[in-house]
Amino acid sequence: MGLQIYNTLAGKKEPFTPLKAGEARVYVCGVTVYDSSHVGHARALLTFDAVYRYLVFLGYSVHFVRNFTDVDDKIIRRAQAESTTAEAVAGRYIDEFQADSRALGLLPPTEEPKATEHMAEIIELIRRLEEKGVAYRVEGDVYFSVESFPGYGKLSRKKIEDLEAGARVEVDERKKSPMDFALWKASKPGEPSWASPWGKGRPGWHIECSAMSTKYLGQPFDLHGGGRDLIFPHHENEIAQSEAAYGLPLARAWMHNGFLNINQEKMSKSLGNILSIRDILSRHEAAALRHYMYSSHYRSPMDFSEQGLDFRDHRPL
Ligand SMILES: [Zn+2]
Repeated sequence: MGLQIYNTLAGKKEPFTPLKAGEARVYVCGVTVYDSSHVGHARALLTFDAVYRYLVFLGYSVHFVRNFTDVDDKIIRRAQAESTTAEAVAGRYIDEFQADSRALGLLPPTEEPKATEHMAEIIELIRRLEEKGVAYRVEGDVYFSVESFPGYGKLSRKKIEDLEAGARVEVDERKKSPMDFALWKASKPGEPSWASPWGKGRPGWHIECSAMSTKYLGQPFDLHGGGRDLIFPHHENEIAQSEAAYGLPLARAWMHNGFLNINQEKMSKSLGNILSIRDILSRHEAAALRHYMYSSHYRSPMDFSEQGLDFRDHRPL
C-alpha cells in the first residue's frame, strides 16, 4: 500500500497520488518574519520535514516550497517601535530563521520565496480576480467578494451565513460582506509600498501564497501543508482566490498539523510562555526535540513541556 495522507479537504485518509508520476509538488506556509520562531513553528517545520524526507525516501522527485511573509502589519509595527525599516526587521528574522532551520536539521526547501520579491505575480493575480468580477476596489484597497465564490468554506466546513452572523460587530462598512478579505491594502505614509493599478500599497496576507505556490508549482499542485490554525481563514482564502482566478483546484491534498500547548496552556505573549526555538536549542539537543515532537501524532494536539524534552535529551543536565 502506498502513502496515505489525511486530506483536510476530503475529511478522510486518501492515497497520495501526485499529478505527475514520480514527482511530488509541495507548498507549506512559512513564517511571518517579525519575531523569533517558536516551538509551535518547530512542530509544523518538523512535521513537514518528515513528510519531505519520506517522499524523498519513496523515490519521488520532490519540489518543496516554503515562503517567507516579509511584509505584514506586525513587521511594520515592530519596525516603527524600533525606529527602523520593515525591511531591516524582516531581514533580521529571516537570518534567524535560517540559523534555526540549520540547527533543527531541516532539509532546505527547493524554493523559499519572499512576498516582497513577487509583487508582479501578486498584482497580476489580483488584476485577474478583478477582471473576473470577484474582487472590488474601495479607496485604494481591493477586497475579495466571498459571496462570489460558491465553494467558500469547503476546507474549514464553515457556512458563509454562520460566518457572517458571527462576524464582529465593528464591521468595515465599506465591504460588501463582513467576510470579504483584503487582497491589496492602500499604504499609509511611512509604510512599505509598491506601485499598482490601485495606487501605492501592499498585498494582504493570503494572496502571496496563492501567487507564489502557482508560480513555482503550477495549479493544481499535489500537497499543501501548514498548521491547523491556518485552515481558516488563511487556507480557505487561498482556495477562494486561486480557484476563482483559474477555475482549477489549488491543491489536490491539504495536510495540517495539530496545535501545541505549553504546560497545558495556550502559548501567548500575554501569558509570557512563548518558547523560541533558539531558547530550547540552547538547552537541548535538536535530535531530542525532533524525537519529542514525533512522539505525538502530528494531527493531535500536543502538550509541550521541558521535562518531556529532558527525558529524551542525552546531554548531561
Ligand atoms: Zn500561506
